Amino acid sequence: MNCPSCSSNHIAKNGSLGNGKPKFKYNSCGRQFVENPKKQPISEATKQLIDKLLLEKSL
Ligand SMILES: [Zn+2]
Repeated sequence: MNCPSCSSNHIAKNGSLGNGKPKFKYNSCGRQFVENPKKQPISEATKQLIDKLLLEKSL
């Protein structure tokens, strides 16, 4: 994941938000960011549910 402003990919953990989510920053320019929750992998149970729903839809 490269920095949108300086293209660096050297990141460091930089504390956390109030809800316990880790906060990161780019070493070179100091730009801070948090992980996008929408990009986290979905759980196996959720995947199976989606597969089931898709299967029912296609029948
Ligand atoms: Zn940067």
